[in-house]
Amino acid sequence: MLRPGKNHGGYHGETIDIRAVLREVETAAQRHGWTSEVFHERSELKLLALHRLPLSTLNSKPSTRTYISAGIHGDEPAGPLAALRLLQENHWPDAAEIFLLPCLNPIGFTLNSRANAENTDLNRDYRNSKTKEILAHIAWLERQPKFDLYLCLHEDWESHGFYLYEQNPDQQPSLAEKIIAAVEKVCPIDLSESIEGRPAQNGIVRPNISPQERPDWPEALYLISHKSRQGYTLEAPSDFPLATRVNALVAAVNAAVWMDG
Ligand SMILES: [Zn+2]
Repeated sequence: MLRPGKNHGGYHGETIDIRAVLREVETAAQRHGWTSEVFHERSELKLLALHRLPLSTLNSKPSTRTYISAGIHGDEPAGPLAALRLLQENHWPDAAEIFLLPCLNPIGFTLNSRANAENTDLNRDYRNSKTKEILAHIAWLERQPKFDLYLCLHEDWESHGFYLYEQNPDQQPSLAEKIIAAVEKVCPIDLSESIEGRPAQNGIVRPNISPQERPDWPEALYLISHKSRQGYTLEAPSDFPLATRVNALVAAVNAAVWMDG
């Protein structure tokens, strides 16, 4: 697969019109009967939480709750585009209850910046939170039930392919290998033995993190500490075409939510 390799010292790839993407997100959510909540708004840029209830059928399986977030880093356009595609396709197991936050940092996308307008990396603000965006996000999270699974959609401009971080402290059956198997059909996997300074194997990083020892929490550490006992941070490689990265994230989410269906 062609690797354009445009990214040196940061992301220099395609950008998106986040206002247009969010309008399409709202249209698709409405069309498919999802509820939509605005939990924060600034400069007419909304932080949206979309919710799909499981379909109740006779003899239906117990529902599973999955939380999916994207767009916390404004220079990672594949996440919000993957969220939009997932909504437009609207292909979920009947028993799936889905909470989808399609873009946590819309202002960042208007600036093509990882950070927000005050130059804060929102994905380091989940402990002793200070930013309005994350205070609003945590207030929303506190109103939600616990999730069986979380998926955080990201890109990495330095990686050689797709990879993921797994948090699974109770050693539940891992979804990591299944996610990688689905993604490798559409996007190269980063096979490095070390990714971001942590040991990796076949695109899977299982960091041994004790949240209490970390001063700055990313979203995933908040989720694993308060809302869920299993989850994946999905990293699409920014050095590959945007369509490939979107395909990778969509394939990863589908693999995870269709795990037992
Ligand atoms: Zn990111």
